[in-house]
Amino acid sequence: MTLHLYDTYSRSLRPFEPIAPGQAGLYACGPTVYDYAHIGNLRTYLFVDGLRRALEFNGLQVRHVMNITDVGHLTSDADSGDDKIEARSRRSGESAWDIAAAFTRAFEDDLRQLNILPPTVWCRATDHIAEQIAFIGDLEAKGYTYRTDDGIYFDTTRQDDYGKLARLKRDGLQAGKRVELGEKRDICDFALWKFSGVPGQRQMEWDSPWGLGFPGWHIECSAMAEKHLGAYFDIHCGGEDHVAVHHSNEIAQTQARHGTRLANFWLHGAFLKTQDAKMSKSSGDFLRLQSLLEQGVDPLAYRYLCLGAHYRSSLNFTDDALRAASSGLARLRSTVHGLGDEHGEADPAWLDRFAEQINDDLNFPRALAVAWELLKGDLPDAVKKATMARFDAALGLGLLAWQPVQVEVPQPVQAWMALRAIARAQRQWAEADRLRTLARAAGYDIDDTPQGQQARPL
Ligand code: AMP
Ligand code: ZN
Repeated sequence: MTLHLYDTYSRSLRPFEPIAPGQAGLYACGPTVYDYAHIGNLRTYLFVDGLRRALEFNGLQVRHVMNITDVGHLTSDADSGDDKIEARSRRSGESAWDIAAAFTRAFEDDLRQLNILPPTVWCRATDHIAEQIAFIGDLEAKGYTYRTDDGIYFDTTRQDDYGKLARLKRDGLQAGKRVELGEKRDICDFALWKFSGVPGQRQMEWDSPWGLGFPGWHIECSAMAEKHLGAYFDIHCGGEDHVAVHHSNEIAQTQARHGTRLANFWLHGAFLKTQDAKMSKSSGDFLRLQSLLEQGVDPLAYRYLCLGAHYRSSLNFTDDALRAASSGLARLRSTVHGLGDEHGEADPAWLDRFAEQINDDLNFPRALAVAWELLKGDLPDAVKKATMARFDAALGLGLLAWQPVQVEVPQPVQAWMALRAIARAQRQWAEADRLRTLARAAGYDIDDTPQGQQARPL
């Protein structure tokens, strides 16, 4: 089966045919670097990484572009409110530039820990101001803009199919929304360029034909995608929350400038949810990858957890699910490790079975199940290992590189492990956790593997 992907624009599963044979251009909206990424954000980047790996599994050469939004993302999608990075700078006293640089580095670390392949091109909005000004100038020349007291706006009423991506119904949108409208002529219109306002209030600002100011968030992506991939490329993706506003506006801008819908395919990942709603970056109260690490969770266990849900289904994050993923990953690692070092050839029939799943709109949960079936089957170990190596190029779990750690475990930790084995057998989870905490305080973490507990120095 050739690769099929669900395209939000046409609301259909379509066969993927690259615009240029053998290649795929991929743009993923990157993070707004005013804070750490939360594990929900990271689910979206794991989805993008799975997409990229699936394209590569199909022999395509991928040019993967990811932006860093380091200016212009306002606290409200209605173009009001503060710039998120400038707002943090005012709160913390650090410079806006330092904040953006620090959170960009933290984001790159998160990606590395999750085995997410680095994009071919990283691009920062603040490095592409000239491209954005040129873009807005072109939209102005074509009559798509108007000026208000606080900026230059895109006139969405010029486009009959504005919002097609989101199946937007314009009728009825206007009523009741007067408050948010301000000087905008239409509720859907959006800022291309915002004026700085009070002099000296902003750190990130640039001269432009319209006055001192900064670009809007949407023009950043249209301009950078065009610069690095052209005005019509293969796939644009991001989280599902981008359909209604951000991606609709990217399409509107590029449509106005070039008459294309920017990308042939538009893919969107569903959200990660937590019961206690700790998943909003703007509330400042959220789970980071680092928080999981501090609890002794391997970051790749989070990757394993995400592989277990299809990218278009929302995923409920719970401690139980994470625990199950940790032990699933531990079992997978030690099973693959147990296959030995003999060299073999990958089995073509199993490769086909695996490809069939990832090519069915990136069905990684079923692809993972195929991997387990392979391991439980009766092929020679060397063939299994060679086949798993190919699977893992798509799964990204680093299975072949994994080595068990051999350690001399001190006597008290051994005693706690023995007690913990009993507690677990009696399903006394709180007691088992207490014993693990004691081991951690002594500098050892305990992994649960098919061979039993394994201690690992922290
Ligand atoms: P931001 O840094 O806020 O611009 O978001 C970065 C990416 O994370 C975007 O593609 C969002 O769509 C995505 N995102 C935000 N919240 C979640 C969530 N709870 N689950 C999955 N993806 C999310
Ligand atoms: Zn974007």
